[in-house]
Amino acid sequence: MTTSRDPQAGTAPLGVPAGTSTLGVLAEAVLPDGRALLLRAAAPGDAPAMIEVIHAAFAARPLLGARPDALSETAASVTQALLAGTGYLVTVDGRPAGAVLVSQDGAALRLGRVSVHPSFQRLGVASFMVRALLEVMAQRGAGQVTLRARREYPQLRRFWEAHGFRAIGEEGNCWVLFRTLPVVAEIPDADAMRALGRALAPLLRAGDLVIASGDLGAGKTTLTQGLGEGLGVDGPVISPTFVLARVHRSLVGGPALVHADAYRLGGFAELEDLDLEESLADSVTVVEWGAGVAEALAPERLEVDLRRGLDPADETRWVFLTSRGRWRRDELAAAVASLEETA
Ligand code: ADP
Ligand code: MG
Repeated sequence: MTTSRDPQAGTAPLGVPAGTSTLGVLAEAVLPDGRALLLRAAAPGDAPAMIEVIHAAFAARPLLGARPDALSETAASVTQALLAGTGYLVTVDGRPAGAVLVSQDGAALRLGRVSVHPSFQRLGVASFMVRALLEVMAQRGAGQVTLRARREYPQLRRFWEAHGFRAIGEEGNCWVLFRTLPVVAEIPDADAMRALGRALAPLLRAGDLVIASGDLGAGKTTLTQGLGEGLGVDGPVISPTFVLARVHRSLVGGPALVHADAYRLGGFAELEDLDLEESLADSVTVVEWGAGVAEALAPERLEVDLRRGLDPADETRWVFLTSRGRWRRDELAAAVASLEETA
């Protein structure tokens, strides 16, 4: 396990739903040296490859306490684990480089045997694997993830904390680490994106901030149109790229919608300095490209991350909703579910 650099920017893993790719590839990235990094679900036939990675990874750890159980794992026991749960394999140019087993643990999914082969460490394989895996599990509807990390390895705990986990207890010589996953909506077209905005609007009130991220054309403005419809504000909501921010007044006595684009803003100070006739405290503010810029604007934030899948011909967007405020995961999930019912 390594906490080193991530694979090259611009090749962030994008999950796709199970079964839509003939190769079963769930995420891909390119290493700085050009080699292809793939994540796919493991089949029972992958057990020998996974064992190779697991044994090599755990044998390479400095032995600080008891011999790791992972070294007693066999191809047969990994096959059993794959038949009872799920597993994922990362390859680098086709060679097995990373492995994870996933099992059900109450309401949570539990990660086990998280390993990167020593010959592929320090390349960001572990970070790629974990990020992609968390996305895939969220897309499949998982809400909670847990794992055990040996307490002798504080750097492991820091690695998992960097991936959003926190320690919620101890068990034997392990930390019990836990995190929730974003709620994910599968959005087939622009109308469905506007419907998602309308479904989320009732959860928003004056002072709230929605930070929308995702590439050009991901659907940030389209989602904001739906938010505007749901809030009952004056339209039309169009891309704010050339005005930096636009205020849409409520037609129903509610909060205004402030729609800003951080792409061309220098940063937070500039955003704060925008001479908006409506104060942010009286409005719902949506900032496109706001990740890393707008967070300080409001204590209650809803992060909305819009992604496309790996197939460029597929217009489906995957919308990852993360509460950084009062929103409970189940109310975000209910808003998304209401959408699926009317679809
Ligand atoms: P952004 O603001 O993220 O740059 P826009 O909302 O302006 O993106 O543009 C998204 C474009 O993609 C629109 O032309 C929209 O009609 C189109 N589109 C196609 N499929 C979808 C989808 N599933 N969700 C959102 N937009 C979609
Ligand atoms: Mg836009």
